[in-house]
Amino acid sequence: MRRQIELIRIFNIPIKLDLSWFIIVAFISWTLASGYFPTIYPGFDKSIYWMMGIFSAVLLFVSVLLHELSHSLVAKKNNIPIKGITLFIFGGVAEMTEEPTTAKSEIKMAVAGPICSGALALLFFIISKFFTSFLPIIPLIGILKYCVFINLALMIFNLLPGFPLDGGRILRAIIWNSTGDIKKATYTTSRIGSSLGVFLIIFGFFNIFTGNFIGGLWFAFIGIFLKGAAESGYQQLLTGRLLHGIKISEIMTRDLVTIEDSTTLDKLVDNYFLKHRYNSYPVVSNGNFIGIVSIHDVKQIPRKDWDKVDVRKILDSKIISLCVSPDDDATSAMSKMVRKGLGRIPVLDNGKLVGIVSHRDIMQIIKHKMDLSV
Ligand SMILES: [Zn+2]
Repeated sequence: MRRQIELIRIFNIPIKLDLSWFIIVAFISWTLASGYFPTIYPGFDKSIYWMMGIFSAVLLFVSVLLHELSHSLVAKKNNIPIKGITLFIFGGVAEMTEEPTTAKSEIKMAVAGPICSGALALLFFIISKFFTSFLPIIPLIGILKYCVFINLALMIFNLLPGFPLDGGRILRAIIWNSTGDIKKATYTTSRIGSSLGVFLIIFGFFNIFTGNFIGGLWFAFIGIFLKGAAESGYQQLLTGRLLHGIKISEIMTRDLVTIEDSTTLDKLVDNYFLKHRYNSYPVVSNGNFIGIVSIHDVKQIPRKDWDKVDVRKILDSKIISLCVSPDDDATSAMSKMVRKGLGRIPVLDNGKLVGIVSHRDIMQIIKHKMDLSV
């Protein structure tokens, strides 16, 4: 199953929707329709609240999209290639294939998002004032006022000075500009980002224990996400610089130990897990790669059934959507590993398994490059 669907292309930038987005749209619609709107605007039918909830959730999605799009357009103007925009559970990310090369272009790119959100808040405010004065349809005004609020919230939250938030990027560019040291600038601002994350997690738990369960959970989740993004952002900058220009084909392992899908689990354990040092193996069926099997998967099946169950029953086929190609940049494999917590990623060339790239392979290259200071 693919986790992302491509919606449309705007200015030739593909807009992708992560499946987690649907959960969050449903969740936001529900919280708005069952709590927020009935409290502020009492006396309407349930169906009206649901309509308000769904419209508001979709407009939130449009607002986030416009915020990310404004980053992307400025990036394009500054010759920073953008692979696409993905909307997911915590908002949106514009995927840059390269980091900005100058502090100036970083600032221009980072301020575009908050400016866009601020402008949208103002626009929704003017429209809501217009309707309040000339056409007072309460549910519509409710939606518009909510849009003012979320765009202001988007602007303020993103201006917090922790990397990788926009505010953190601005601060990073300022430090980068004055010291000339992007590594130090990223280190400082990602520490702030990580601390902000911890603060949000604590604040979230405080809210949970004082009765604001959903809001608290929300803060805690955003905190965890921000902390992770801040830490991996710094790591990514370091590794990205060292891995620049290295193709997967140069570092992958080519002679692979693969497993036929009809192998039973007792043979898998005796002939593979106990003989080789790997924790997981690629599985093939008639020469085609169909997934990966790990020790963890085997443990799900009781030992007494190991001679009756074959690998096909327990393999993980989701990995196929995460595979890389030999021509991909090593950084893309690295960021996938960090994001998904994977140790090894299969390398496919036109659907055929040609190698495996492991975290160890990449770390080795990084270590060599650091030792040689190249
Ligand atoms: Zn932004």
